[in-house]
Amino acid sequence: MENFAQYADWAYLIGAVLFILALRGLSSPASAIMGNRYGMIGMALAVVATFAVVANLNGGAIAVQPGYALIFGAMIAGAVIGLFRARTVPMTQMPETVALMHSLVGLAAVLIAIAAVLNPTSNHGAVSRFELFVGCFVGAITFTASVFAYGKLAAKKWAKSMKGAWVKPVQVILFVGMLGFGAAYFVTEDVNHFYIMTAFALVLGYFWIGPIGGGDMPVVVSLLNSFSGWAAAGIGFTLGNSMLIIAGSLVGSSGAILSYVMCRAMNRSLFNVLFGGFGAAAAGAADDGEKKEKNYRAGSPEDAAFMMGNADSVVIVPGYGLAQARAQNAVKELGDLLKEKGVKVSYAIHPVAGRMPGHMNVLLAEADVPYEDVKEMDEINSDFAATDVVLIIGANDVVNPAAKNDPSSPIYGMPILEAQRARTVMVIKRSMNPGYAGLDNDIFYMDKTMMIFGDAKKVAEDILKGLSGGGH
Ligand code: NDP
Repeated sequence: MENFAQYADWAYLIGAVLFILALRGLSSPASAIMGNRYGMIGMALAVVATFAVVANLNGGAIAVQPGYALIFGAMIAGAVIGLFRARTVPMTQMPETVALMHSLVGLAAVLIAIAAVLNPTSNHGAVSRFELFVGCFVGAITFTASVFAYGKLAAKKWAKSMKGAWVKPVQVILFVGMLGFGAAYFVTEDVNHFYIMTAFALVLGYFWIGPIGGGDMPVVVSLLNSFSGWAAAGIGFTLGNSMLIIAGSLVGSSGAILSYVMCRAMNRSLFNVLFGGFGAAAAGAADDGEKKEKNYRAGSPEDAAFMMGNADSVVIVPGYGLAQARAQNAVKELGDLLKEKGVKVSYAIHPVAGRMPGHMNVLLAEADVPYEDVKEMDEINSDFAATDVVLIIGANDVVNPAAKNDPSSPIYGMPILEAQRARTVMVIKRSMNPGYAGLDNDIFYMDKTMMIFGDAKKVAEDILKGLSGGGH
């Protein structure tokens, strides 16, 4: 047991493989629980190995060092808070919870960088100073930006959107100031320059997120996730800890890929999300269009029950309203009852339905909807034309045909679920109000469409009652 470090490298390697398996597992709802377990084991291994290395540096003895009490105290406090939060947070508040967690990763990176800069025993060469600078400023931006993102998602009063021509110049000044003081630290090794650089980065994070619309926050949160990973990797280089480098790079690259996938699913560039005013443009487009009187047909849950009970095939399209109403269990029961009556039932998932990636998959999995009934967009789109009834529950933008047919629409080019091709379309929502993109939707006005107004959960339960009474 002379050199723990050599065993630690093995433990880190196994930990890294487990992290990769975790990501692999998380790519499908069916394997996500297993993926989480791999991640937990990998992390436990990494923590134990790191303690072993520290003990070895301290002379091989696992004697209780004064710092251990602090570390264990912090770990226990963090675990208790994390466990409590994970058990109590409702699914609809997941995006802001994730934002808050990223802010902590950013803060940790800043604190570690400052501790490393202040460490009297370490000698910071040029490469180390550069790593500290990058790790710290990315961490600082991640910290304040994530706190602001949390505030916006949770609709806190202090997280109001920033508007006006003054915002961009302020961002540029902060960015230049941050780089300037970072360069000054690099050249002079003066710790004060490092502090000022960190302050500039903290303020920059706040002003960077300020002007971005609340609806774009999920993409921003995913990008901040990526940043927090790169910040951790940067600090890993400083500390010479290969585990931190590997874990940070995995988080960094998977977050970046996820941001890209989300933007592609909305047919927008990342640049447009981060620096464009999509929300404003879309709202403007909706306001400008003269409000033509368009007719739509409204029906009752009983009508819907009758028609679905007599259909051969029903495709259920869930959207943000399903999450908002927490209607997943009622919808699952509805699907089960239809199946009992001999109707073929599938659930169609759009990649950006809801407000975070995989939102609908998670909700349907929570309600125990069988995975084989859940179809991704590419898989189900060719089935719509042969489907008797499409039941759209709290979805809007993801079934808006304008994305396919109207080149002037802000969402033109976004792939959609082609629900409009089914024989009968039913839409459950509370009003004729638009969805996230602020756009009207022609699918509501088709002759074959029936609107069923009300809260998604209540309507689903009423349809269920209607179905229990009659049938095939
Ligand atoms: P939308 O936001 O387009 O529409 C949701 C609809 O649900 C609304 O029209 C609303 O109508 C209805 N609704 C809300 N609450 C209820 C309720 N309690 N009961 C019944 N209906 C309700 O959602 P989609 O899922 O179709 O589309 C998601 C949008 O979010 C897309 O524009 C996407 O680009 C965007 N987005 C998604 C991200 C993701 O990662 N998933 C990330 C960033 C953006 P009403 O008020 O009349 O009830």
